[in-house]
Amino acid sequence: MPVPTPSPKFRGFYGGTFDPIHQGHLQSALFVQQYCQLDSLDLLPCHLPPHRDSPSSSLHRAEMVRLAIAPYPQLRLNLLELSRHTPSYTVDTLEQLQQQYPGDTLCFVIGMDSLAYLTRWHRWREILTLCHLLVLARPGYSSADGDAPALLQQFGAASFTQLKRAGSGQILLLPNPPVDASATAIRGGQAPAALQISAVQAYIRQHDLYPR
Ligand code: ATP
Repeated sequence: MPVPTPSPKFRGFYGGTFDPIHQGHLQSALFVQQYCQLDSLDLLPCHLPPHRDSPSSSLHRAEMVRLAIAPYPQLRLNLLELSRHTPSYTVDTLEQLQQQYPGDTLCFVIGMDSLAYLTRWHRWREILTLCHLLVLARPGYSSADGDAPALLQQFGAASFTQLKRAGSGQILLLPNPPVDASATAIRGGQAPAALQISAVQAYIRQHDLYPR
């Protein structure tokens, strides 16, 4: 009997500094996994973020992600970027992931603020040859910002069904409920508890991560 070929999987990867992870990340990750029916969704803390200075150690940030997603088996922590000792360029990560998951479709998740500046990312054009981009709504940012209009005109997909017809190179805006959380506000002690994750708050206190 012929062995059936497994159908390609849709794998989501949500990269970030996660310094710390908050409800904006968590709620949007849960939304995107369900909305797009992804076969897997990995949260990928970066090791050395290319666009900013000295965050908390990558081990603390990864541990906070692990605590935040512990109740949700549909989300996974991926330590791929922590295993490299170079700046965490997304294009390098996607090349590694393509080798790891040959034949599967990779979807990289970013917020609207990130889309506005995508053309500043290292080898950004190649990113779009390796994956689709799933873009989260984020309060304070719109698809009219920065490079977003030009990118959407060239690469925009009208629906996930349309995006699925291609292996890469499409950008889809997601209708996720907006959550007005930012890691900057948490580090500055200005974020309401409802926008934070209680297990992460306890970890931050225990390790005195953001002393003021
Ligand atoms: P900081 O305030 O330190 O810049 P951040 O809150 O933006 O951090 P990051 O870890 O830098 O968090 O974000 C990782 C990814 O998650 C980015 O693509 C960002 O656009 C997206 N993101 C962050 N917060 C939200 C949010 N509240 N809603 C939707 N997307 C978000």
